[in-house]
Amino acid sequence: MTDLKEAREYIRENYNVDDEIHMRDRSGRRWCQCIHCGELMPTDDMPIFGGPGREMNRGQCRQCLYYLGYINIP
Ligand SMILES: [Zn+2]
Repeated sequence: MTDLKEAREYIRENYNVDDEIHMRDRSGRRWCQCIHCGELMPTDDMPIFGGPGREMNRGQCRQCLYYLGYINIP
């Protein structure tokens, strides 16, 4: 958990979600921001992410998709 918090901090300090480059933490894991809850998450936790231009670093996290009824398992 601490790892995740640290990595999130690193992403926040080193990137802007509007940048048109992939946001990656020190271990090379890619991160995106959820368009629903606004949280930064590793893309492992995002069934949907990425897109052209400014959507590159945005996605939809598992938790939000679950609450919205798009997936059955959070
Ligand atoms: Zn979310």
